[in-house]
Amino acid sequence: MSNVPITVAHGDGIGPEIMDATLHIIKEAGARIDIETIDIGEKVYLSGNSAGIAPESWDSLRRTKVFLKAPITTPQGGGFKSLNVTVRKTLGLYANIRPCVSYHPFIKTKHPVMDVVIVRENEEDTYAGIEYKQTDMVELCLKLISRPGCEKIVRYAFEYARMNNRKKVTAFMKDNIMKRTDGLFHEVFDEVAAEYPSIEADHWIVDIGAAKMADTPENFDVIVMQNLYGDILSDVAAQIAGSVGLAGSANIGENISMFEAIHGSAPRRAGQNLANPSGLFLGAVMMLVHIGQPDIAELAHNAWLRAVEDGVHTYDVFKEGVSKEKVGTKEFAQAVVDRLGQKPETLKAVAYEKPEVIAEADRKPIYTIREPQKKDLVGVDVFVHWWDGSFYGTADKLGAMVEKVNGDGLKLVMISNRGTKVYPNGMPDTFCVDHWRCRFMADEQGSIITHKQVIDLLSRFSAEGIDFIKTEHLYNFDGEAGYSLGQGQ
Ligand code: NAD
Repeated sequence: MSNVPITVAHGDGIGPEIMDATLHIIKEAGARIDIETIDIGEKVYLSGNSAGIAPESWDSLRRTKVFLKAPITTPQGGGFKSLNVTVRKTLGLYANIRPCVSYHPFIKTKHPVMDVVIVRENEEDTYAGIEYKQTDMVELCLKLISRPGCEKIVRYAFEYARMNNRKKVTAFMKDNIMKRTDGLFHEVFDEVAAEYPSIEADHWIVDIGAAKMADTPENFDVIVMQNLYGDILSDVAAQIAGSVGLAGSANIGENISMFEAIHGSAPRRAGQNLANPSGLFLGAVMMLVHIGQPDIAELAHNAWLRAVEDGVHTYDVFKEGVSKEKVGTKEFAQAVVDRLGQKPETLKAVAYEKPEVIAEADRKPIYTIREPQKKDLVGVDVFVHWWDGSFYGTADKLGAMVEKVNGDGLKLVMISNRGTKVYPNGMPDTFCVDHWRCRFMADEQGSIITHKQVIDLLSRFSAEGIDFIKTEHLYNFDGEAGYSLGQGQ
């Protein structure tokens, strides 16, 4: 069988040590790989490349399509972009998979029974990084959620569950508040779940869901989340399982995939043969399954479980009375190599199968392209920067000014401040900052308006000397409102 080319980056801090240890184990286990090495991280940043990766390194990633990456140090201070976010978004690595498993009684944990896989959306949400300072007081971050983005991640979660014999997929979202963005995620979750009747589908509002996950993780199996919730809760899940130092992760794209530890470069531990290579190693195990070498993944993973079970522990998980031998990075890797061919006796051994090859014709599309909907412009929100010296009781004054721009078939129906309706008939107790949303709809209820009416409206704002800073169009899609109401509207 021919070797599979992979791209490897040794990273910064403890990166080179844990990468050497990881490669030592998988090579001894018989991994059939050809390694192309690239430089990423601190050295590249400090050489003046603010992305942290040289242009020619992208060629290697595009060629091999498989990236085993050690953690890097992101230099402190402005100007440096997160390499992880750059790589994930540039290469379309839309699914971030983080298995969080406890190894009771060998590694201390509050949750002896925990085997949760977090599937985190990796490309959109507030991580699009589209942010603006809009007024003296207000910053804006756009939360972008797309239907194909939701379809890709939710389908990945169900396919992962199906292929890994998992029984349940739970979605966390906050659609009681974010009815459109999180509502879309929920809607797509329900649609995709219906295609997998043999897998239980469940959902929680993210706050109570997170509390339950931290309290009774044994009740969860696969959890799928948008980017921000998934970022936060996958660290929580890894930590309560035992240690963030033990979790690996896969970043899967349609064409290219990246495998890594979830922890960082731990610079204070670098160069001392102290670091635990397990997170990166478990990332490499996922890589082996991904490249069609489940036999090697299984051999290496079971040897690792046996070493953990035998109490051979690095300093971070070493516990007097539980652990048997405190070892360094290299010795730990060697202890795993010495156990190749053995299986754990108390912990559950792993078994991996070759990823199933589904014929092109039978493959479910990872997203669908829908017919464009009928889109009618029915109104416009004009955001205004205005301040009259007080946080309370000024809305009516602004209202009187804005009423003057009514006309040409458009009329002001409400002003809100940070989402809460304050005009007409606002409450004097509502705290108002210098950022106001003025909602205009057609004079005649339900009528369609034109771009020209919007442009003329803005001209009237300008003529009245009202500082408009942004507009949002209000559309009906197939007759249904595509915008939220103001709180209290
Ligand atoms: P970190 O995860 O590097 O380390 C936090 C602490 O956890 C360390 O001080 C150490 O005590 C412990 N630790 C982490 N991994 C360990 C291991 N394998 N073995 C033993 N102990 C371990 O987090 P940090 O200190 O916040 O970040 C350090 C640097 O890493 C920063 O520059 C940060 O930007 C970067 N970082 C990189 C990645 C990545 O490349 N994927 C991820 C997170 C942070």
